[in-house]
Amino acid sequence: TYVVTDACIRCKYMDCVEVCPVDCFYEGENMLVINPSECIDCGVCEPECPAEAILPDTESGLEKWLELNATYSAEWPNI
Ligand code: SF4
Repeated sequence: TYVVTDACIRCKYMDCVEVCPVDCFYEGENMLVINPSECIDCGVCEPECPAEAILPDTESGLEKWLELNATYSAEWPNI
């Protein structure tokens, strides 16, 4: 799965949402998140993010962000 990280906080870009083929972006408390159980790992959103906030979960140190993406996407609306 891909993970939205802190560079997204209070970001106003929505380019990632437009390109996602499975609509798995959700509106979190102050940032967008990706539902890890819906993301198909296509990677299309990563280069679309002007803030470079989206990373593959294969990168190290993203545990906290992966957990936040899962939590927010379970509790907040799909966008
Ligand atoms: Fe959507 Fe693909 Fe990005 Fe996953 S990697 S959030 S499926 S655009």
